[in-house]
Amino acid sequence: MTQPSIDTNCPHCGQPMCRWTYPDLQYDELRYVCFNDECGYYVRGWAFIEEHYKTKASYRHMLDPQSGQTMPLRVKTAVDFRDGIEG
Ligand SMILES: [Zn+2]
Repeated sequence: MTQPSIDTNCPHCGQPMCRWTYPDLQYDELRYVCFNDECGYYVRGWAFIEEHYKTKASYRHMLDPQSGQTMPLRVKTAVDFRDGIEG
């Protein structure tokens, strides 16, 4: 193995994350996003945001493979941004 390995499994649910780009949101470089609807991070997000912000939203776990940084991707429905998933 000579390539640097990055873990593209979601740290919250262990599922492989999807390769994802979304130029409209200026995510025009590859990111990895967990689109697992059972993911604890995403599931807890609905309750957390409802409680703290009184609105319906959640977030999905997102990884920037260039920097290794992770960040939340805010969503308002279960299907938000799925069209950015690379087949
Ligand atoms: Zn996950």
